[in-house]
Order: sequence, then C-alpha cells, then structure tokens
Amino acid sequence: MHVTGTAAEIKPINCNHYINGKYVESFSGETFLNINPATKEVLGTVQVGGKEEVDLAVKAARKALKGEWGSMPTKKRSQILRKIGDLILERLPELAALETLDTGKPLWLSKSVDIDRAANNFHFFADYMTAIGNESYQQDDIAIHYSVRKPVGVVGLINPWNLPLLLLTWKLAPALAAGNTVVMKPSEITPMTATVLAQICTDAGVPEGVVNLVHGMGETGAAITSHEDVDAIAFTGETVTGSTIMKAAAPTLKKLSFELGGKNPNVIFADADLKETIETTLKSSFINQGEVCLCGSRIYVERPIYDEFLERFASKAKEMKVGDPFDPDTKVGAMVSEEHYNKVVSYLDIAKEEGGNFLVGGNTLYEDKGYYIEPTIITGLGKNSRCVREEIFGPVVTVIPFDSEEEVLEQVNDTHYGLSASVWTSNVKRAVRFSAQIEAGMVWVNTWFLRDLRTPFGGMKHSGLGREGGAHSMDFYTELTNVTLKL
Ligand code: NAD
Repeated sequence: MHVTGTAAEIKPINCNHYINGKYVESFSGETFLNINPATKEVLGTVQVGGKEEVDLAVKAARKALKGEWGSMPTKKRSQILRKIGDLILERLPELAALETLDTGKPLWLSKSVDIDRAANNFHFFADYMTAIGNESYQQDDIAIHYSVRKPVGVVGLINPWNLPLLLLTWKLAPALAAGNTVVMKPSEITPMTATVLAQICTDAGVPEGVVNLVHGMGETGAAITSHEDVDAIAFTGETVTGSTIMKAAAPTLKKLSFELGGKNPNVIFADADLKETIETTLKSSFINQGEVCLCGSRIYVERPIYDEFLERFASKAKEMKVGDPFDPDTKVGAMVSEEHYNKVVSYLDIAKEEGGNFLVGGNTLYEDKGYYIEPTIITGLGKNSRCVREEIFGPVVTVIPFDSEEEVLEQVNDTHYGLSASVWTSNVKRAVRFSAQIEAGMVWVNTWFLRDLRTPFGGMKHSGLGREGGAHSMDFYTELTNVTLKL
C-alpha cells in the first residue's frame, strides 16, 4: 500500500493554546509529538497545558462573560454563529485534510460527515437560539410568573478523538448560542481542527476571551474539571473518565453533561428488508473504523435468516478497501493511534481465546506503514464473552442468532451501557413494542445514524448523563430564573 499522507497538499500545523484571542505556548515549554496514524510520521508538536494555562483561560472566559459578549443582542450573536458555520464550510478542504491526518479516517468521510456536520451545528443553533421561548404562567389575578434564561457562565468542553470537530462543535455551538464563554480541551490525539476553529471563531466576530483552548492530556482536563471558577462541564469520552470527572467536579458542584461509551445492539428480525439491512449494517459496523460511539457492535439475527445474512454481510465486508485515508476508494482507514490499535488487537486475541470464529478479518495490515485492522466479523461467541460485553471501539462485530423477541430483548438489555440500538423489521407493531423496551437513549428503526438536531441525543445507564440537542442543549447551557410578579 502506498500512503500519500498529505494528498490534499495541506500542511499539518503545530498546536498552540488559544487564550484571550491569541495563540500562546505553555509556560513550561513542554510539548508532545502529534503522530499521523496512517503513516506513523510526526505531524507537529502540541503544547501541554497545566494549571497555569487553564487558570489564564478561565480568567479570560470569566472576564469576557462580563464584557461585550454578555450584553450582545441575540440577533448579533446568532449572526456570529452563522458566520462561524460559513467559515468552516469555506475552509472545508483544509479542515477535512487536517482531520484525516489526525485521525486516519478516510478523507471523503471527514468532508461529508465531520466537517460538514460541524458547520451544520453552528447553522442549526444560529437559527434555534432565535426561536426559543420561556415559560410563563398567569395565576388568576394574583400573580404572573415568568422565567428568564441566563448563560450558565464559564463552561469546560472536553472532547474525544473519534469525531473531533463534529463533537466539539456539537457542544460549542449551543454553549455560545446560550451566551456562555468556554474553555475547550480537545483530545491530545486529535488537536489540529480545534486549533483552527479557535481562530475561525475570532474571524467570525467572537470577542476575545469568549472561546479559549488549552491543549494537553488528562491532567489538563482535570485542571478544568476541578477549577473552582468553571460552572459546568460538557464531556464526551469513556465511561471511566466520566466517573473520574464526576468526582473531580463534586466539591464545586458543577453542572455536568456526559456522553459516554456504548456497546450498541443491532437486532435484525426475519421480516426485515435484508438488502437495506445489510447495506446499513456495514456502515454501522465499520464506518470510521468502527470508532463511532453509536456503532452497532453486537448484531443479533433471527434464526431463519441467520445463514443468509451472514453470507451476504460477510461477502460485502470482504469487499471493503482498507488503506490510505486519502485514497477515495478507501472504506476503512487507520485506527487513531498505536495505543488504541493495540487495544483493539488485544480483543482479537481475546476472541480467539474465547473460541470465536473469524468469519471475516481478524488481521492487522500494513504494520510497517500504520495502524490498520481489517473489518472483522466474529461468530460463535456467547453472551458472557468479553468481546460481546465490552466496548472495543474498532471494526470488530459479533453476530449471534436468536429465536424469540423475549430472548433477544434480554440479551440486548444485559449490559451496563445504554447509548443506542437499531432494530430491523417490517412489522410496525413489533417495531414500536420492541423499541420502547430497549434500555437505550436512542433507537433507530430500519435505519442508523439518521439525525435531526432537535431530537434528544444521549445515553442512559453507564452511557451518559443528560441529553443534548435542540431544547435539551439549551437547557443544559442556561440557568432559569423564575420571576413572580404580584398583581
Ligand atoms: P477519553 O475518556 O479517554 O478522553 C476524552 C477526553 O477526556 C480527552 O480530551 C482526554 O484528554 C480527557 N480526559 C482524560 N482523563 C481526564 C480526566 N481525568 N479529567 C478530565 N479530562 C480527562 O475518551 P477517548 O478515548 O478520547 O474517546 C473514546 C470514548 O468516547 C469511547 O468510549 C466512546 O464510546 C466515547 N464517545 C461517546 C460519544 C457519545 O456521544 N456518547 C461520542 C463519541 C465518543
């Protein structure tokens, strides 16, 4: 395989912090190297922020809350948000290339999903923020009660590496729409697009200090979550990190929003449209190398169609081209990092030890070039297998047959996770009945990853805390004051 790396002729960037409207380096001078997982080449350096940098960023954010931003009319703030979305689209080729260099995902995916949806997040909330109202109640001739919406204050936005700009803007857009100021910390593994976004915000008219960015590892995130002048934390990442953040935030009682891990089931009944089911199941299994929190990694298939499903699903999976993320024919790029690649490979070993049958894949590829793993379909594992129970977050799925609705429902819900599920059936009554019993925040019927940004997004059980999207995001990023006016 030939890895072109920078086919879009976009130069990778060094990543500095962005505090009070300026790019700055760390006081300590400490940096780490950013690695392209598709080539193992060094992309550049990233600053390591500590308590000092976080403190400066929080102070800048607090000051900006009281300045021009705090009193800016809604219409003007909405125009700025719209402009951020426009500038992201103007710079789409550059941002998509940077996202692909950082993550190893195919360039076409960065363009069509990551960056396009990042722009859409701003366009959506630019409109949404002008359309929401507040509660009011008339209590006979005694009083009128009405609520006033205010920003929460300084919000920490802490993000993962799998959809870096998309997930960051999913938080930043509503946070700004509600009038907050922010300190962002992107994943240390994928720092580049967030670094460009900070400048885009300034270019769009966001006043200095409103959007701050501090790079670094978990310790940098911890400096944000324990900072006494940060009012809320919106976090997306692993369940175990969410738990750590909850403890760190407890002494200062911060408002928390968590989007955490998942082990999502796809349930395929015998009456499903098999062609469409297989096409979408390929996506929900292997898109973005399986590194999407919503990917369906436990596939349950009703016994009468089990063999046919497996044969057709496996033959399509074998056709998927793995390789150079800048090649337009590539379907599966590189895993995001050496560490994550090793984690996924360890699950392939576990599957072998547990007696799994590798119907497709199970191998690493192009080891000298980068971190590539074949799309992998495993059968023959039981419900207690670690590969069936634990989040692998790679291009690895297990397929298990079932005989009844009751039996499969029990397996579907037999997990600490509760993020999403997809159900495939042409029986509407069953679709409604079954979906309602699934313990997950989001259920798709005869589709997957279809989003309307007004709908509640989030997980139950160990998959999250609260919901994002439309009114749910605005609720999180605002505080309500009820005013009672005696008549
Ligand atoms: P992670 O939890 O390792 O890291 C996420 C972010 O938290 C990074 O920026 C990291 O530096 C920071 N962090 C680490 N330790 C911290 C600490 N103690 N205090 C504060 N911040 C800290 O997650 P990841 O490996 O980057 O992302 C993959 C995980 O994210 C998967 O579990 C996936 O399911 C989940 N995810 C969930 C959703 C969702 O919407 N539910 C979306 C995408 C990813």
